Amino acid sequence: MSEFAQVGDFCPNEICSDYGELQSDQQHNIIKFGKTKAGRQRYMCKTCKATFTETKGTLFYRRRTPEEEIIDTLAHIAEGNRISSLARTTGHKEDTIIDWIREAGNHAEAIEEALLAEYQLTRGQIDGLWAYVGNKGEKKLSGDG
Ligand SMILES: [Zn+2]
Repeated sequence: MSEFAQVGDFCPNEICSDYGELQSDQQHNIIKFGKTKAGRQRYMCKTCKATFTETKGTLFYRRRTPEEEIIDTLAHIAEGNRISSLARTTGHKEDTIIDWIREAGNHAEAIEEALLAEYQLTRGQIDGLWAYVGNKGEKKLSGDG
C-alpha cells in the first residue's frame, strides 16, 4: 500500500486533532473550499479551519521524516549534491534517500511544483533528480483507483 495519500484525504495541519486522519464515512473533516487564482482546488479542514491546496500535504504521508526535510534533501540532490554525501549530512541511509526519490516520482507533478516554487530549481535540475531512479516523472492524472 502506498504511503501517499491524495490531497483532500486528510488534514495536513500538524496541530490539528484530525491531522493525518484519512477521510471515510466516519471521518469527514475535509471539505472543498473554492479554488485558488491559479485554478487549484482548495480544501478546508472543518476541525481546525485551516485551508490548503492541492500541492500541500501530498508528499510522504506519514513518513517518519518530516516532509520539509525530504523535500529539502531532494532539492539538494537536484542541485547536484551526491546522495552519499547527503546521507552523511542528514544521517539517513542512501537507500532511504533513493526510496524518497522513487516515491517522489509517483507524484512528480506536485513535487516539481514544490521544488520549483520553494527552491528556484531549473527544469533540467529536476529532470536530473528523476534520472536517479530512472523515472522521468510520469504525470498521472488520477490516482491508482
Ligand atoms: Zn485540521
